[in-house]
Order: sequence, then C-alpha cells, then structure tokens
Amino acid sequence: MFVTPERLNAWYLESGLVDAITPGKEADVQEATTVREAVYRLVTDRRLGEQFDREALAVLNAAARKAPATPQLTLAGRHTDATPEQALATVARQAVELLSGPDVPLMKECGNPECTRVYIDRSRGMRRQWCGMESCGNKIKAAAYRARKKSAPAPAAR
Ligand SMILES: [Zn+2]
Repeated sequence: MFVTPERLNAWYLESGLVDAITPGKEADVQEATTVREAVYRLVTDRRLGEQFDREALAVLNAAARKAPATPQLTLAGRHTDATPEQALATVARQAVELLSGPDVPLMKECGNPECTRVYIDRSRGMRRQWCGMESCGNKIKAAAYRARKKSAPAPAAR
C-alpha cells in the first residue's frame, strides 16, 4: 500500500496517527516496509502460537526505541506533527503494545486468500472473516454469488 514516500505519508495521515507530516524519502519507505514485514511475522508467530522470530523482534524493538510522534495540546484540541521516522516509531510502539496486550487472541488474518491484512475480531462469537466488507467481504461474497448462479440449473423454458 505504501510504495512511495507520498503514499506512505498518506497512510500515516489516513490512519489518524498524525495530523501533519514532513515529506519523506525513499529510505523511509524501505524502513517502513522492513518494520511492516517484521510486525507481520510477529503477528503470525502469535496467531500460530509460535515463539517470536528473534530477527523480527530486533527490527521492531529498534524502531520502537526511536523518538515517537508527540501529541501537543492546543487551543483547538490536540495536534500531532511528525517526521516519517517519528510516525514509524509510533507505529512500532503500538505494535509492541498490541503484541504484548490482551487483544492477541482476537487477531485474525483476512479470509480473502489474496489479502494478508490482520485485524482484531471484536464481533460476537468471533465470526468476522474479512479485514473489511468494503475491501474484501463484498468481493468474496459477490464471487460466491456468481459461482452459485453459474452452477444453478437454468430455469425451464416455456
Ligand atoms: Zn482483506
């Protein structure tokens, strides 16, 4: 999803993590991708009940040690300015919180085979299957509907 510094910054803004961010460089994309892959590995280890991968732990912890974005109290409320490096440190810290917190048993990977997003399933009975209806659920349901329609017998001709 973040293949350029601009797209990466757009993700930081859209996720609500920061309110404003300074322009990034190609190196920020590489850093963020490395951390993302480490987080994915650690989440997968947790989901499968396996021990954390040491290399992934080192990557995540190194990112989490850096200075994070700091929210500031303003007359209008709260404002968070950040550099891409600070935003990534904030993401890493949240990943540390998540992976050591009570939501670990609720983590699931999307049921769409083409999607690797992980979400926290807070639905009743933990029946949620998709990262989101818009992104994946509707796509899969529409495909299943089309498949059913195709295999259903044609109505009798008059
Ligand atoms: Zn998905």
